[in-house]
Amino acid sequence: MRMLRLLSSRPLRCGCLAGIYETYAGPIVWIVDAQGPNCTDPTHRVGHALEPGRRPDLIPSSRSAV
Ligand SMILES: [Zn+2]
Repeated sequence: MRMLRLLSSRPLRCGCLAGIYETYAGPIVWIVDAQGPNCTDPTHRVGHALEPGRRPDLIPSSRSAV
């Protein structure tokens, strides 16, 4: 998946840091940029995409800010 640009980054409740990227194909994706020292979620690995559609805590609070 090719990233067009970094839109924003945001800390997750588990302590990880996620980057919000716009892709060339259009969709916005969340990628784990840094794993929190206390994170126990096995899906949170640096460079892996998250699925904000299934995770209310991953939805950006304001789309207009993007
Ligand atoms: Zn995490």
